Amino acid sequence: MERNDQLKALFDPQAVAVIGASRTQGKVGHLVVSNLLAAGYQGKIFPVNPHGGEILGLTVTSSIEGLPRGLDLAVICVPRAEVIESLERLAAIGTRAVVIITAGFKEVGRKGYYLEEEAASICRRHSMIMLGPNCLGLVNTANGLNATFAAGNPEKGSIAFFSQSGALCIAILDAALGKGIGFSKFVSLGNKAALDETDMLRALKDDPDTKVILGYVENINDGQAFLRAAQEATIEKPVIMIKSGTTPAGARAASSHTGAMAGAEDAYQAAFTQSGIIRVRGVEDMFHLAMAFSTQPTPTGPNLCVVTNSGGPGILAADAAERSKLNMAPLRGQTVDQLKEFLPNYAALYNPVDIIGDADASRFSKALEVVIADPMVHMVLALLTPTPAVDVEAVARAVAAQAAVCGKPVVACFMGESKVSGAREILRRAHVPCYNYPDSAVMALDALFRHAEWKKRPLPVEICYMSNTFHARDVLDRAKAKGFTELVEFQAQDVLKAYGLPVPKTILARTSDEAAQAAKSIGYPVVLKIASPQISHKSDVGGVVVGIDNEEDLRKAFLSVTNRAKRVKEAYVMGCLVQEMAPKGSREVFAGFKRDPQFGPLVLFGLGGVYVEVLRDVSGRLAPLSLLDVGEMVREIKSYPILRGVRGEPPVDFRAIEDVLLTLSQIAVDFPEIEECDFNPVMAYPGGALVVDARFTLGKPVAEES
Ligand code: ADP
Ligand code: MG
Repeated sequence: MERNDQLKALFDPQAVAVIGASRTQGKVGHLVVSNLLAAGYQGKIFPVNPHGGEILGLTVTSSIEGLPRGLDLAVICVPRAEVIESLERLAAIGTRAVVIITAGFKEVGRKGYYLEEEAASICRRHSMIMLGPNCLGLVNTANGLNATFAAGNPEKGSIAFFSQSGALCIAILDAALGKGIGFSKFVSLGNKAALDETDMLRALKDDPDTKVILGYVENINDGQAFLRAAQEATIEKPVIMIKSGTTPAGARAASSHTGAMAGAEDAYQAAFTQSGIIRVRGVEDMFHLAMAFSTQPTPTGPNLCVVTNSGGPGILAADAAERSKLNMAPLRGQTVDQLKEFLPNYAALYNPVDIIGDADASRFSKALEVVIADPMVHMVLALLTPTPAVDVEAVARAVAAQAAVCGKPVVACFMGESKVSGAREILRRAHVPCYNYPDSAVMALDALFRHAEWKKRPLPVEICYMSNTFHARDVLDRAKAKGFTELVEFQAQDVLKAYGLPVPKTILARTSDEAAQAAKSIGYPVVLKIASPQISHKSDVGGVVVGIDNEEDLRKAFLSVTNRAKRVKEAYVMGCLVQEMAPKGSREVFAGFKRDPQFGPLVLFGLGGVYVEVLRDVSGRLAPLSLLDVGEMVREIKSYPILRGVRGEPPVDFRAIEDVLLTLSQIAVDFPEIEECDFNPVMAYPGGALVVDARFTLGKPVAEES
């Protein structure tokens, strides 16, 4: 709140000074002044330049000291070498907010990096809000503030946009002008030395002029703060984002399976999913969604009705709906009867409603009216191909008229170009989004529905199991004291047991006699696994033998397994684990977590087996996980049908898998020193699950809590 108060000086200043204002056309210091004037900014404008005189009819103030004390906003366009001094002088007169347009900071290397740190520290010390450096500036259309050097002034509207990339700002501004898309706020974040996307989300969620928030991000500094801000924002309004610049998943060499599976991209994806941010691939999709969100009401359900004058495009729309979360609305009998009354008998009366190529505007209008009235229809797509029979502009007016009164989302798709451009303009002015292709229209409607669902979802329930963390702590401390950075299966099992995770009966045997004893007490068949702190991938060194069903074989296996292990350099062999053979009839899955530097522990889930890494069929969520999260995780992998059972197979026990995931989440939260964790495989059964292999990677020792 306090922050938002401060942001007022940035977004809604009473006066703006332009430091480094210039008389020379084309210079940044000139463009900013002329944009402020052109946008009709009503507050005071103070161009500042040591040469004095006049710029665009405004009297120039010759030094910062000549500005009023407690100035709201200063836009800095001076050369890099003068930025620090300007900031200090602005701070001295009690300036509340600055925009540093000047470039040459972090983005150019070491020297720039230190300069940027210095600038940020001056602003922090004096509680000056700071945007940039290396940015384009900002626009607030509500008060005519255009403090940018970009060409063209954005139209007023209800879309807020912020971007890390200034070039993208310029491109979007231009594209929006062409499409007649209007903005409430437009912010170029630049290097984000102080203000970043998290601050924008906090500010814009309460901004009465903003209906939809759009953002372009390359990287996020404080992932957890971003996540919280996003969760709060998406409850209020849709947040649509483009995220670029992630390194390929698994680029870093990782010691665990989970580590190799999850890259930074997965953490971002999880953060977006868990905070309800709608992620789009590019600018075009972003506009498509923004148009729908800024103009259309919230749908009350997933049922889409398509009214079209052409068969093929109608099928394309239905196909797109099939791939989305939407349904093709089943029309009521009454609706079909009403359609029958005026549609030619070769028309398709069921959804998509094809009123065929010879339809005129009045047939279009009547059909729309009838389907909109059907309570089974939650949203409508008016889909037109410019046939010779149809007056496209009359159809546009009819669609606009229906959309204005019906209270349901109505969008249009007028295919073609030259014949439909006038109609598109009519729809645009009537605030009905008009798309070029059915896919985009359906994608936008789908986003409306998903966001409505998101807002309705129950609050996440955090799960906390009773567990013997004390014992787990002891195990970890002992491992750390010995300098281990990995806990392999025989060490990790104790942690699992402390958390009540189901593990097969396991006994560590130092000799083949001990092994024989152990097997007798467990009961054949058994599994023999090498026990060495240095060997974490046991089968890679021939360290796992499954299905041993008599003592003779067991003794032989013990010898061969330990002999093979002794050939591994630097491996200290403690003996072998004798383990209960997991019953038949399982499906193997894996579960694990990896700590992301920005977002914290990312829990992963997927089907086990050798092809996992090739298929990358995994789901991920950031810990702490809720019941809802784990429910989604197990269901969203592509191989979900395998878990549900194919050809008469019974489904696996989903609750048991969800329990494993929730426990993993808790281990991750309880033990920050566990860097990565890998349960692979977990045997999933129709009743229960068994973690038959586990491995923890410890990170650098963290500061001990007192
Ligand atoms: P690694 O260190 O090579 O990952 P695992 O303990 O995962 O060793 O064992 C390798 C494979 O052996 C597993 O993927 C699983 O298919 C099988 N396996 C391991 N333990 C058992 C068990 N207790 N019961 C049945 N099969 C097992
Ligand atoms: Mg394994």
